[in-house]
Amino acid sequence: MTTAIRQAPHHRNLTCVKEYRCRRPECVARHNAYQRHVYRQKGYGTWQPLVDAAPARQHIDALREAGHSIPDIQKQARVSAATLARILYDGTNKRAERIRPEVAQRILAVPLAPAPVKPSTVIDATGTRRRLQALISMGWTLTALGPRLGFHPRRLTDLLHSDRVLASTARRIADGYRVAQTLDPAAHGVPKKSAKASRNLASREGWHGPLDWDNIDDPAAKPETSRKPRAKDRPRKVQADPARVARLTAQGWSAGQIAQEIGCHKRSVVRARRRAEMAVAA
Ligand SMILES: [Zn+2]
Repeated sequence: MTTAIRQAPHHRNLTCVKEYRCRRPECVARHNAYQRHVYRQKGYGTWQPLVDAAPARQHIDALREAGHSIPDIQKQARVSAATLARILYDGTNKRAERIRPEVAQRILAVPLAPAPVKPSTVIDATGTRRRLQALISMGWTLTALGPRLGFHPRRLTDLLHSDRVLASTARRIADGYRVAQTLDPAAHGVPKKSAKASRNLASREGWHGPLDWDNIDDPAAKPETSRKPRAKDRPRKVQADPARVARLTAQGWSAGQIAQEIGCHKRSVVRARRRAEMAVAA
């Protein structure tokens, strides 16, 4: 037990009276009012002590991850900026380990949906980079992609190495990619030699084609080909390259012939053809 008189850091809440035995009349009054409040609530059977702040803090982190700003969270949860700051701990205030249950409930009630992305928002460029890399690995050149995607080829070169990108740019690349990935570059203005150079570049750089990605936008996603090899006794699944399928189909090959040529199942050929048709119809 300490006998030295310690100075309370502030007189905003119950801390000064509870921990520093502050006797200022306004602080004593605040403390007594709180005690009466607790006493009444207990009498009504509605008393709820403070709750752990960790779930609310985790929910705020998840919301921010989903693209929500702090002012947006504050507005939706109807809590003050100061309350959020105490929960989050910004490095200046003391972190709140326990909060009022109604505050926790209001924060946890904010739905965890992706925030609508404005065209001017800067987002992660992973998906944009991978789409361009995938098109190059098919044999597309930036010169041919420029007019198709609506960008100067030099701008596409920059985008191949960008970490962040405007949401509007990412959208335009994704739209152009959806169609271009189903087309054979050689049949759309890319000289054979250039297409080969693109494919070689992609192979040297370790870039992956469209079929290697389940979720091309997810930075944590691993391309299909870098996954663990399948067990030897199971048949290896070879994907039909849509561009190659389209090219051979145009030359009058049947699905069976193409499957044999590529070394994949006939189903893959049919699927690749359907994918190309859907992209053209879209
Ligand atoms: Zn005080």
